[in-house]
Amino acid sequence: MIRTIYLARPRGFCAGVVMAIEAVENAAAANRAEGRGELPVYHAIVHNATVVQRLEDEHQVHFVEDLGDLERVRTELAEQGRELDDTVVFSAHGVSPKVREEADRLGLATIDATCPLVTKVHNEARKYAREGYHILLIGDSASHQEVIGTSGEAPEQTTLVAVAGHRKQDPRLEDPRTVTVPDPSKVVVLTQTTLSVDDTMRTIEILRERFPDLITPPRDDLCYATKNRQDAVRQLAPRCDLFLVVTSDYSSNGMRLLELAEDLSGNARRVESVRDIRPEWLEGISSVGLSSAASTPDDLVQEIVAYFRDLNPDVELIEEGEWENITFRPAKRVPAPAA
Ligand code: SF4
Repeated sequence: MIRTIYLARPRGFCAGVVMAIEAVENAAAANRAEGRGELPVYHAIVHNATVVQRLEDEHQVHFVEDLGDLERVRTELAEQGRELDDTVVFSAHGVSPKVREEADRLGLATIDATCPLVTKVHNEARKYAREGYHILLIGDSASHQEVIGTSGEAPEQTTLVAVAGHRKQDPRLEDPRTVTVPDPSKVVVLTQTTLSVDDTMRTIEILRERFPDLITPPRDDLCYATKNRQDAVRQLAPRCDLFLVVTSDYSSNGMRLLELAEDLSGNARRVESVRDIRPEWLEGISSVGLSSAASTPDDLVQEIVAYFRDLNPDVELIEEGEWENITFRPAKRVPAPAA
C-alpha cells in the first residue's frame, strides 16, 4: 500500500512554457474576438501531448511541421467554411533562420514564442560563427527542434555532438571522444538547454581534454528549469520505492528526469497521465515519488495524487523544495514584411 507520496518541487511548467502557451491562447482568443482565422503554430508549441490536444480542441489551433503545409490546411478549412489566419506562432524550441525566411516569403506575420534561454544559445551560435569559431553543439537528437534551430544559425560551422553516457545514442551525432574540428584552436561548445546536467558536464570535460583551447560560454547553456527539476528528483528519488515522471516521451527534459530517477530509485516509470499507472507497479510499494517535465500541466500530477489518496485516504504527502519565481515577457505579433 502507498503510505507516502514525495512530490518534487519545482516540477511542471517553466517560465518558457508558460509564455509559449499563453502566446498561443492569447493569439487564438484575439483572432476569435476580431473575426480572424484559426491560428497556425509551427511545431508542437511545447513537447506535451495533452497541451497540444487541449490547444487543438479548445482554441482550434493547427500545428504543422512544415510551413509548406499551411496551404493544405487553409484549403481544408475553406471547404468547411472556416479560415486560417496568416499569422504563425513559432514554438518554445526556436526555429532556424531558414524557417523565418520562409515565413517572410509566404507573407506571414509571426509570433515568436521561442524561450529566451533558447534565443540566448542562438545568439551565441551567431556570435561565435561570425568570429570564425567552429561550434560543437551537444544535443540528444539531430531531430530535436531546438537542435535543428540552433544548428541552423551556422550549419556550415556546426557539428552535432552526442551526450556522453546518453542511453539512446543518435547515430547522426558525433562521439565527443572522436569528433574532429577544422582548427582545434578555434572551437566553442554550446548545448541544447534541456540535457542531463551531469552527463553534459562530463561531455564538456571530454571535449576540453581533446581541445584545450575549447571555449565554453560564461554560463553554460543548460536552463534553470532543467537544472532545478533534476535537483529536485536527485533529492527525492533515493527515498522512493517507485518514481513516476509525468511526461511525453518526446520531451527531452522529461526523459532526462526519468533516467535520473531510474538511476537513483532503481524503479522509475514514465506516465502521460493517471490512466497509464498499472496496479502491478504498486505491489509491495510503500513510497512513491512524483515529478513532471517542464511542459507537463500540473493537473495531470494532481490527478495522480488524487488516485493514490483514493487507494489510501491516510497517505502522507511530502512536498519538498522551492518553487521558481521567473517569468518571461509575452511574445508579440510581428507584421509580415512589406512585399
Ligand atoms: Fe526555456 Fe528551459 Fe523551459 Fe525550455 S525548459 S522552455 S529552455 S526554461
